[in-house]
Amino acid sequence: MQSSASDNQLNVILVDIEGTTTPVEFVYETLFPYASANIESFLREHSGDQEIESLIEQLHIQYNNDKREEKLQLLLPPWIEDNDESQLRSAVEYSKWLITKDIKHTALKSLQGKIWEEGYNMGEIRGIVYRDVPPAFKRWTKQKRLICIYSSGSVLAQQLLFRTVASGDLTAYIGAFYDTRAGPKTQSESYRKIAESLACNPHNVLFISDTMKEIKAAQGAGMQPILCIRDSKDYHLPETNIVIIRSFDEVFPG
Ligand SMILES: [Mg+2]
Repeated sequence: MQSSASDNQLNVILVDIEGTTTPVEFVYETLFPYASANIESFLREHSGDQEIESLIEQLHIQYNNDKREEKLQLLLPPWIEDNDESQLRSAVEYSKWLITKDIKHTALKSLQGKIWEEGYNMGEIRGIVYRDVPPAFKRWTKQKRLICIYSSGSVLAQQLLFRTVASGDLTAYIGAFYDTRAGPKTQSESYRKIAESLACNPHNVLFISDTMKEIKAAQGAGMQPILCIRDSKDYHLPETNIVIIRSFDEVFPG
């Protein structure tokens, strides 16, 4: 791996999850279906909890925003507020709809995070990372680099994933977790904010992701980006001067 800044200046490594530390399939084939299947029972079990009530309220606000958007209007399931039961059913249907559309609203992410938390705690779900991830986290920590995560999944969901991987808890290696509360992953401003919250210059941050839009946004903020391409054999390499890796083994091998 070559980099423009000298290696020891890159003392923060900011890492994406989906498609970078973890196969995308884990999210689409395990996490999302688990949340969808359990959303109704979860809301019923926790109805009356203030936190859950407030999440439903936030979902409803988001629903009303979506309703004002012409392209979504006709596609949205109805939201009926006649009584607690219809309110709950509406929240369930809207949440499922958001999951199938892969729309990442913060309230939904928090709700999914709580459902996954139960699943992880009951051992029904376990976090998955690529084989090169645990040794890289250990190596970079030994090199005194700070490892941080930036993913659109909620911070809670991120922590649960890294806590339960088969090789052992990886959260001890992670200095900070960021989700969409830091802003969208495709906007440079989000990366500036993250660097600011770490009290470091964006030039000292290495950002690893499988998504070109995120790479561009991080680069726009002054970070040093690396495009991580995992297993798509026929992937057309974008015409770019961005550093491309296939495994974390290539990043600061020590
Ligand atoms: Mg990704």
